Amino acid sequence: MASLPFPLAFSEVPQAWTDKYKEAKSAGLIPNIEPPKANSAGVVTYGANVKMSEVCNWEVDGCQLDSSISMAPDGVLAIGLDDGATAAVDGLTKMLTEQNVTLSHFVIGSAIVNFPSAMTTLAQAKPAQHIACHSWSHLQLPLFTDEELVADLGWCQQIVS
Ligand SMILES: [Zn+2]
Repeated sequence: MASLPFPLAFSEVPQAWTDKYKEAKSAGLIPNIEPPKANSAGVVTYGANVKMSEVCNWEVDGCQLDSSISMAPDGVLAIGLDDGATAAVDGLTKMLTEQNVTLSHFVIGSAIVNFPSAMTTLAQAKPAQHIACHSWSHLQLPLFTDEELVADLGWCQQIVS
């Protein structure tokens, strides 16, 4: 596992990540959507000019995902756990091994800093588990700039790999 700065500094992003972002942006792979605002209750709202069909986040179902990603095959139950890695991973992993079950674990980079052994346990679990980044900060990602998103998701990916 990499040694990372904590707390996360958005300005400390490797140049390669910034270069990849700029490459994707100039290729038109990243849409130009007016940034949303959050009200005092934290509810995110988009401007009147935003095409909501282009917005993809958990509060707005505009995501155009291939069904092979978003739907389990017939006869298969897909289970995802949010907000790991936590101190509960040891017991959970024991149960998953005993039951020969694989889950999708969406882990938070800053949580891994607090529970590094839990991430190691999860990464070495038998059967192998699906591990995905659920951001570094677990803040409201729609409110982030593109550059902040690159940092948040990049640092999460870095600590997971
Ligand atoms: Zn979460």
